[in-house]
Amino acid sequence: MLHIVHHPYYVSPAAPGSSFSFDKYGLVMQAFAEHAVPHQIHLPDPMVRAWIEAVHDPLYVEQVASCAVPADKERRIGFPVTERVSRRAFLAPGGTWLAARLALQHGFAANSAGGSHHALADSGAGYCVFNDLAIAANRLIAEGDAKRVMIVDLDVHQGDGTAALMAGRADVFTFSIHAEKNFPVRKARSSFDLGLSDDTGDEDYLAALARHLPQAIDMFGPDLILYQAGVDPHAEDRLGRLALSDAGLAARDRFVMHAARQRGLSIASALGGGYGDDRMAVARRHVRSMLALHEAFMACGE
Ligand SMILES: [Zn+2]
Repeated sequence: MLHIVHHPYYVSPAAPGSSFSFDKYGLVMQAFAEHAVPHQIHLPDPMVRAWIEAVHDPLYVEQVASCAVPADKERRIGFPVTERVSRRAFLAPGGTWLAARLALQHGFAANSAGGSHHALADSGAGYCVFNDLAIAANRLIAEGDAKRVMIVDLDVHQGDGTAALMAGRADVFTFSIHAEKNFPVRKARSSFDLGLSDDTGDEDYLAALARHLPQAIDMFGPDLILYQAGVDPHAEDRLGRLALSDAGLAARDRFVMHAARQRGLSIASALGGGYGDDRMAVARRHVRSMLALHEAFMACGE
């Protein structure tokens, strides 16, 4: 049984003047329906505001809640924060947190949104409003659901917001493998960073992952992994540069799942980045990622 966290309000009408497509989150569920995989859909609640404020500046949280985000921050985010965008900004962290709770119960669960890894304390950035990964990690630890959380971020872009928000915490480890020559221009410092060169390709990418991920997990000793499973390292992604194939991405996801399950760790995934004019192709890429994780999870004997 695949546990998926999804909310109809993850989807929002396209924002004027932005190329960010909010319909991706609906298309992912449409693409998922093409597969006959036993699953259960879980509806998240909006994240409790105090838990967002535990990570983000309360003034910025209020700006998002009241759809009064200043223009310079909206420019940084990449779209205007309308009522629908605001609503989904509160739902996505609720979704990642719920996926983590389900993962602790069942071993694996996937949020069909989230992975907003560029959002900083007092502003969103790079299509991210609130940092669901940091919010969820902090809440899980504060409420005693987990003692040590590892955020594994394999989106093509560095998880700079997550790194900045979780910096200095001994109980959260941020792991990012990304394209070095890509947004953000100025990288933050994660607990572990590996910036790869353009057109790295499957073989070198998977070798780098195998060299560094198991070692980082063993060194840190998390009891839960939050996995930002962005599919933008794909060769055909509009913003990707790492030239991974479908098979390469699937091998990546299987490797992450095996690394977690061989150590008895629960793992929750968040959707992360994926961009292209063929929006259904992008949605199918995300679904293949979820299914690769699920199949590897089942193969590990739950
Ligand atoms: Zn990305």
